[in-house]
Amino acid sequence: MKKFWAYIVSMRSVRVHYYWGIFYGVIFAIASGFSIPFILYKVLPWVFSDTETEMETSRMVLTVLAIPAVFAIRGVAGYLNAIYVNKGGFEILMKIRSEYYKKLLDIQVGYFNKMGVGELISRLTADGTIVQQTFTEAANDVVKQPLQLLSAIGFLVYMSIKNPQFSIMMASLLVIPICVIPVQSFGKKLFRKARKQQEELGDLSDKVTDAVLGCREIRGFNAEGSFFERFSGRLKEFLQTQIKVVVYYHALSPTIEVITTIGVGFAFISAFFLDITQSEFVALLGALYMCYEPVKKIGVLANRFQRGQGALERLEAVTHQEVQIKEPGSPTPYSEAEGQIDFEGVDFAYGDEPTLSNVTFSVKSGEKVAVVGPSGAGKSTLIQLLPRFFDVKGGSVRMDGVDVRELSFTDLRNHLAVVAQDPVLFSGTFRENLLLGNPEASKEQIIDAAKKAYIHDFIMSLPLGYETQTGERGLNLSGGQKQRIALARAFLKQAPVLVMDEATSALDSESEEKIQLALANLFKGVTALIIAHRFSSIRFVDRIIVLDKGQLVAQGTHDELMLSSKLYRKLYENQVN
Ligand code: ATP
Repeated sequence: MKKFWAYIVSMRSVRVHYYWGIFYGVIFAIASGFSIPFILYKVLPWVFSDTETEMETSRMVLTVLAIPAVFAIRGVAGYLNAIYVNKGGFEILMKIRSEYYKKLLDIQVGYFNKMGVGELISRLTADGTIVQQTFTEAANDVVKQPLQLLSAIGFLVYMSIKNPQFSIMMASLLVIPICVIPVQSFGKKLFRKARKQQEELGDLSDKVTDAVLGCREIRGFNAEGSFFERFSGRLKEFLQTQIKVVVYYHALSPTIEVITTIGVGFAFISAFFLDITQSEFVALLGALYMCYEPVKKIGVLANRFQRGQGALERLEAVTHQEVQIKEPGSPTPYSEAEGQIDFEGVDFAYGDEPTLSNVTFSVKSGEKVAVVGPSGAGKSTLIQLLPRFFDVKGGSVRMDGVDVRELSFTDLRNHLAVVAQDPVLFSGTFRENLLLGNPEASKEQIIDAAKKAYIHDFIMSLPLGYETQTGERGLNLSGGQKQRIALARAFLKQAPVLVMDEATSALDSESEEKIQLALANLFKGVTALIIAHRFSSIRFVDRIIVLDKGQLVAQGTHDELMLSSKLYRKLYENQVN
């Protein structure tokens, strides 16, 4: 509850919505808990009276008319209460969801290694829905129900003052504290199971993501059967957990009903021995109903808060995640970049094992340097340190003499064009995808960049040209085409430094040729650091760096390295032959 309340009070507009909700909740509760038993108490003596004076008849008609009036007030107040509480709940959810999305955009790249895509989506959607229900439906009842209980108790106190015998009958309320026992016991179990259910749902979402993103691998390895079996197994476990959640969730209401009927039984027995009228007794039953009904709902409510808390914690595990790669408090100004890059004594590790050890080299402004080395040598890791996708553990990476950790993200990344190994095309049109390089680019600039990247003709061959949708995550494009789109983005960005991780997959000779031509265009006038997976690219570079097991083992031109580095010669010969 505390957790939820903290969200409510943290936003002014939400606070106002909830205050109005509480206001109408109070009216609803008084109308239900006090007024309805009170009307019953007043009207029954006239209905069953033996004498029918004109005055009593008109009083009775008036009082009976009060019943729809009270219900109208109760209905309108309940309606407005629900609207305000829901508005507040929706706003809170909107805030949580936008914080969540912002965190996904800001968090260090390494975070996504630990969290599956499906799990992250499931937290935002499934857990988000549960939290929303807690802030709307449950938060709604949390105002109305306790107040209705208090108001009905208020009526019973009023009656006890009028007729002290009534106070003995109030002992029927003593069953209410007993209800705490099942509420707590079911609540704890439900919390655990509901949490497990959400975790399993996240896992299932991961499996669905795998089936979509890994569709080629799964078919290629004839693994449909084993994937389906694994998914079915998890689905069965999920089914069991879901059933347990439902079992605990729905067991509470009837348990409380049984306990409260003991109180009703006591009311009948005491009415038999005490001196109270029929109308007092009917009013008492009405008031008891108005007491027990909230107790039942408050019990269920505790369960709903338990479920909501589990879901909220799973969302907060992401939204409260600390961003480890941060911008400096007062960044060094950096507007005109020369493009000089220095790696000095760089150490890096993903875990305990070092991935890069004491790597030192420089790339002069305008120079083109290729990085080569065996698989797993640390090439991709090395170039990811420049845009600060990861931070060095030791040493430093500098741009024009300034440690990249002292620059603002905007300044640093504005001066870098990063072309990833497997570029992602976002859902949307080709034009929108190219605009990622420069959101301000004109149509002419986009076409010019696409021509330089040798992708214009392909785009123009599509039914809607630049307005064609790329398809979900660009799955229907070849690796070479995706790389050329990424190169066109880099052209549009016109950054002084180009960082590129070449596609590892083999490209057909036409695609290869086009990429080489595009690269030759792109290299003009920029500093470039490129991981060359294919040696055809090294003809454009001034120098080559050889990495092995995280260490820089050699550097020089192709001819120099062919003479001086055994590893380089081996890598080259392996590819050429
Ligand atoms: P390749 O040529 O196969 O792409 P590479 O030279 O680019 O390899 P890296 O991808 O930098 O090598 O990987 C270097 C080492 O770091 C490898 O042992 C790899 O398993 C490990 N590694 C890479 N990325 C991660 C990561 N995100 N988390 C943990 N370990 C990683």
